[in-house]
Amino acid sequence: MVHSADEFGFATRAIHAGQDADPASGSVIVPIHATSTYAQDGVGGLRAGYEYSRTGNPTRTALEECLASLEGGRYARAFASGMAATDAVLRALCRPGDHLVIPDDAYGGTFRLVDKVLTGWGIEYTPVRLSDVDGVRAAVRPNTRVIWCETPTNPLLGIADVAALADLSRDTGTTLVVDNTFASPYLQAPLALGADVVVHSTTKYLGGHSDVVGGAVVTSDEELAQQVAFLQNSAGAVPGPFDAWLTLRGLKTLAVRMERHSDNAERIAETLSRHPAVRRVYYPGLPGHPGHEVAAKQMRRFGGMVSISLAGGEEAALRLCGRTRLFTLAESLGGVESLIEHPGRMTHASTAGSLLAVPADLVRLSVGIEDPDDLVADLLGALDG
Ligand SMILES: *Cc1c(COP(=O)(O)O)cnc(C)c1O
Repeated sequence: MVHSADEFGFATRAIHAGQDADPASGSVIVPIHATSTYAQDGVGGLRAGYEYSRTGNPTRTALEECLASLEGGRYARAFASGMAATDAVLRALCRPGDHLVIPDDAYGGTFRLVDKVLTGWGIEYTPVRLSDVDGVRAAVRPNTRVIWCETPTNPLLGIADVAALADLSRDTGTTLVVDNTFASPYLQAPLALGADVVVHSTTKYLGGHSDVVGGAVVTSDEELAQQVAFLQNSAGAVPGPFDAWLTLRGLKTLAVRMERHSDNAERIAETLSRHPAVRRVYYPGLPGHPGHEVAAKQMRRFGGMVSISLAGGEEAALRLCGRTRLFTLAESLGGVESLIEHPGRMTHASTAGSLLAVPADLVRLSVGIEDPDDLVADLLGALDG
C-alpha cells in the first residue's frame, strides 16, 4: 500500500497510492465498480465495508486515497464537481450569522454560490485582495468563520501567501480553505503551508483531459472530514464510478503534465510580454509579476495558466479569441489541449457590474502540452493577422 510522502515521491504516489492490484482478480488497474449496492454475509455483514454507492464505492475510495496522499492530508472525499465540494465545505463550516472572507477575484462559480445562495441562508461575506494580508486581517470580524483562498487566482493570476494567511487564520480562530485547482498538488501543497482544508475542481488539472467533471475536499481534521462525509452522504453529490476512474487515470500523469504545462506557459508568457499588441501579461513566473517572489517560495513551478490584456481593448480581445487554430475557444482549463477564452463574456460574465468584475480587454489562456513552437506560432499568427 503506497501512501506516505516520507517513503515515496509525488510521481510514484500519483501512480500507486490507493491503487494496489485488485485482490479479487489481480487487475493491475483499479476496476470500475459499476454497482449501486453490495452483497452482505448475513444482516449487517459487510464484506469490505461497502453497503450502498452513495455512501461509498471502491473506485471512488481509490481516487480518494490517491488525492489524500498527493495533497499530504489524512482524509479526502471525491465529489460530483468542484462546486459540490465547495458547497459541502462551506456548509460543514458555516451557520447562519457567520461571515466569510473571500478573494476579490474569486472563481465566478464560488462567488455566485456565496453571493446568491449562502447569503439567503444568513451568511455574510467580504471580498478582499488576498495578496494584502493586512487587508485580510482588517476584514476578519468576531463572526468570521472561514478565510477562502485561491492562489493563483482565476483569471488574473493573483498570488496569496498561504503561510502568512495560515498564521492569520490561527491567530483569529478562523479556518483557512485553499482552492488549489490552478496549481494542483504537484505545484503547491497548501496543507503543508498551514492551510486547514484543500478544495479542488478535479475537472481541471487533476483529471487533465477535459473528459470528466469532479471535485474533491482534502483535510487532516478528522471532525471536519466526518462532517463533509456526512453532508455528502446526506445530499448525494457523489461522482459515479466511471468518473472516479477517469480522474484516477488522469492523476497518474499529473507530474509530467504539470512540468510540460509550465514549460509551455513560461515560453508563451515570455514571448507575449515582448509583443506590441499585448498591453500586459499576467503570469506569476515573470519576474515583474507582483506575486512572483511569493509564488517562487510556495510553488514548485508556475503552472499552465496565462492571462493577457490587449492593447486594442475588448475588441482586440474578442478578435484574438476568434482567430486561433490550436487554442480552442472554450470555457474550462487544465486539459492537455490548449484553450482560449474571454473571461468578461464567458467564465466571469456573472461578475459583471460587481466588485469582482474582470477587465474587458482580458484573454485567458489554458496552455496545453502540445508542441510549444506550434502554440507560439498559433498565438502570433492570430495576433498579427
Ligand atoms: C472550475 C473551478 C471551480 C468549480 O469546479 P467545477 O468542477 O466546475 O464545479 C472552482 N474553483 C476553480 C478555481 C475552478 O477553476
